[in-house]
Amino acid sequence: MDEPATPLEETEARIARACKIAQRKRDAVTLIAVSKTHPAEQIEPLLQAGHRVFGENRVQEAQEKWPALREAYADTELHLIGQLQSNKADEAVALFDCIHSLDRSSLVKALGKAMDKAGRRLPCFVQVNIGAEEQKGGCAIADVPALLGQARAADIPVVGLMCIPPLEIEPAPFFALLDKLARDNGLEGRSMGMSSDFETAIMLGATHVRVGTALFGKRG
Ligand SMILES: *Cc1c(COP(=O)(O)O)cnc(C)c1O
Repeated sequence: MDEPATPLEETEARIARACKIAQRKRDAVTLIAVSKTHPAEQIEPLLQAGHRVFGENRVQEAQEKWPALREAYADTELHLIGQLQSNKADEAVALFDCIHSLDRSSLVKALGKAMDKAGRRLPCFVQVNIGAEEQKGGCAIADVPALLGQARAADIPVVGLMCIPPLEIEPAPFFALLDKLARDNGLEGRSMGMSSDFETAIMLGATHVRVGTALFGKRG
C-alpha cells in the first residue's frame, strides 16, 4: 500500500502540473512555504522532507522561531512576506534572505542603510497595490518606476514585483497585470499566488508562490 501523500507532496505535484501545462520548467517556480503562526514542530517535518524555502510575515515571530531551526538546517532560505516597519530594517536584514514587501521611499532609505551597515545586500521584491485598494500595503502602480529608481540609487537589488490581489475577486487579471508591469520594468521575478490560486499564478508567470494553508492547514 502506498503512503498517502503529504501536503508538501500534494502541493509539489500541483505546482509540477501547472508548470507542465504552462510549458515552464519546474525550477522556474520557487515554492515559499509560509509558516507564519505555526510553531517549529509543524515546520520541522517540511525541513526533514528536504524543503528549504520558507516565508514569515513578522520580524519578531521569525526571530523567535528561526535561529534554532536554522542551526539544524543551515541552508534554509527565509523570505519576509509581510509589511516591514523602517525601524525593523536592521533586524530584517540580519535575519532574512529576501524581502517581498518593499513598498515606499522611506523603507528604501532604511533598507539601503541597513544593508550598507550589515555589508549584506538582500534581493527584494517591490510590493504593488495591484487592485488600487485603499487599506492595502504596496506601492501604487503609477509609482513603481520611481520607487525602482530610488532602490537602484540605494544599491538595493530589486529582483521582481510582488502582489496580493483583492480578496474575493477572480485574481487572474491582477496576476496578468503584475506580469506586464514586471516585463515593462525589465524585472524577472513575480511573487504572486497563494494557497487558493497558485496554479493560476503559475500559468500567468509567477516565479515565487507563497503557500501557507495548503501546506500547514488553517491558521489558528
Ligand atoms: C499568509 C500569506 C500567504 C499565504 O496565504 P495562504 O492562503 O495561507 O496560502 C501568502 N502571502 C502573504 C503576503 C501572506 O501574508
